[in-house]
Amino acid sequence: MTQPAHKLTIAIDGFSSCGKSTFAKQIAARLGYVFIDTGAMYRAVTLYAIDHDIISGGILDTDRLIAALDDIEITFRYNRARGAADIYINGDAAEGRIRTIEVSNYVSSVSSVGEVRRKLVAIQQAMGRNGGVVLDGRDIGTVVFPDAEIKLFMTADPMVRAERRYKELQAKGDTTTLDEVYRNVVERDHADQNRAISPLRKADDAIVLDNSHMTVEEQMEFFMGIYNERLCK
Ligand code: C5P
Repeated sequence: MTQPAHKLTIAIDGFSSCGKSTFAKQIAARLGYVFIDTGAMYRAVTLYAIDHDIISGGILDTDRLIAALDDIEITFRYNRARGAADIYINGDAAEGRIRTIEVSNYVSSVSSVGEVRRKLVAIQQAMGRNGGVVLDGRDIGTVVFPDAEIKLFMTADPMVRAERRYKELQAKGDTTTLDEVYRNVVERDHADQNRAISPLRKADDAIVLDNSHMTVEEQMEFFMGIYNERLCK
């Protein structure tokens, strides 16, 4: 495979549970790039808020969350077995706890707080400043790296997405029902698209990828077509 003179920045945005992280991870492995899961960062802050009763009785105390932000240190350490970096909160392993339905139910409230976004966007920009990165999230192509050389916007039918996420949870022994997962997917779509700061939207120059009826191999072929075209420019 021909390598470009410099390493690119690849932005993958889109709706919840479209397989963005899995796809971004595969692209990073294929190109020898670093994969950055920005959703994991918003989830980590949410987990911290739950653990510290900043979210309690279903209510997020925004002022306390903002006051606590300086005390939350988010770091990553590469996990060879997973082929991706695991997330740590103040040095404690958090990867195994950030994808529960409880975190999923509150993460959109946490991610709508401007101060949280500012902190996490700055970390993401620092991590990706030299290129050679694949980031997945909601605002990568619009806010974090608006000059990314390749931007994809992923979508899929909500029920197809809920079924995929449900199977993942089941495989981990989680007993959340399909109906509950479906409701979470639809509610997060709505909240992420309608928040005041950096709402989820397709960047004007992003290419749409609807993977409702695509295999993983077809997705990769689609991406490599775009990547090779980009190299010829
Ligand atoms: O990608 P994932 O589903 O793990 O993201 C969890 C949540 O984090 C999203 O629903 C969204 O509220 C928030 N998020 C965000 N901006 C990003 C990545 C995730 O607001 N770049």
